[in-house]
Amino acid sequence: MPQVDLTELTRTELEAALAAEGLERYRARQVFQWVYRRGVAEFAAMTDLPSAQREALAARFRITTLPVAKRDVSEDGTEKFLLTLQDGRQVESVFIPRTPHDTFCVSTQVGCAMGCAFCLTATMGLVRNLTPGEIVGQVRVLAGALGLRDSRFNIVFMGMGEPLHNYDATMAAVRILADDHGFAVHPRRITVSTVGLVPAIERLAAEDVMPRLAVSLHAPTDEQRAALVPVNRKYPIAEIIEACRRFPPARRGRITFEYVLLAGVNDSPADARKLAALLQGLHVKVNLIPLNPAAGIPFERPSDERIDTFGRTLAERGVTVMVRKSRGRDIRAACGQLAVEGLKKSSAQLLAEKLGSGTISR
Ligand code: SAH
Repeated sequence: MPQVDLTELTRTELEAALAAEGLERYRARQVFQWVYRRGVAEFAAMTDLPSAQREALAARFRITTLPVAKRDVSEDGTEKFLLTLQDGRQVESVFIPRTPHDTFCVSTQVGCAMGCAFCLTATMGLVRNLTPGEIVGQVRVLAGALGLRDSRFNIVFMGMGEPLHNYDATMAAVRILADDHGFAVHPRRITVSTVGLVPAIERLAAEDVMPRLAVSLHAPTDEQRAALVPVNRKYPIAEIIEACRRFPPARRGRITFEYVLLAGVNDSPADARKLAALLQGLHVKVNLIPLNPAAGIPFERPSDERIDTFGRTLAERGVTVMVRKSRGRDIRAACGQLAVEGLKKSSAQLLAEKLGSGTISR
């Protein structure tokens, strides 16, 4: 198999790789159009390249496409895809139609190391980081399967994993997705959601290609937050708010604060008042996410009335607030419900494969 996986490269990196092979740099643009806009995964089909070049490319590069292991369709049109990576591990990605735009929700890690108390992915622990090609590949495969390659869509990095804990791959993926010759998704249509890793937020603030930022806050005090989001002990609320204040306002658009509502834990009117006070003077919006329950998650979703009161308490204090409707709950595709089932079994299979006796179905 050719050595270099072309899907791992930004266009600038591909240009350099082509130059190193004695090929013209500008061919990278053509290749990007074929791979991302037209969904072509074979050099032979790239008919605007001279045939000698197609052969040269095929000898040096491969184009990986992640096979779909499972596809579930929800009553509300949300679709959950289980994709198999080259090492046999799997990730979930979700398509959410018309919110009002079509949205792809992608994973950045297999599992997650952050350990948030109400999140199902957290129960897997961190298995490994995804590569840029595996992150972008989710969009490539879903857009292809859904016939949406040429349309406009939003991308949210809100699937499995903590994007800023896999910073370089996440940013390379953002660059590939935003590339004018590829999907050309405007960076403002890409949202990176973070648990609040302050140094990484600061790094992001200096990027030339900048996605929108969403921060998972979930509580108005450090005491409450540390019980839900362990990493709060390292990066407390005040530091997160400061980092958000310093985030360049002209380019970032409004920052979103996500707040998962847990019955009796962080959903009281007093909590809402504290949250409003905390956000005073910040140009942000709050996304309230009523908990999506899952087996083994020791919390409950508050009543609609309680959710409503919380939202109104914020709104009365001038905070822009939205209650996120959960989509795809019947197929367990809603926020925080992604986790690969049967992971233990597949690790055993992986081990068997390593030992040379395995049968792995791909
Ligand atoms: N690691 C990133 C992306 C996580 S998923 C982050 O923390 O932001 C996106 C959102 O779903 C996060 O705000 C996360 O806290 C939330 N979430 C996790 N589990 C949930 C659950 N069971 N119900 C509702 N939202 C949940």
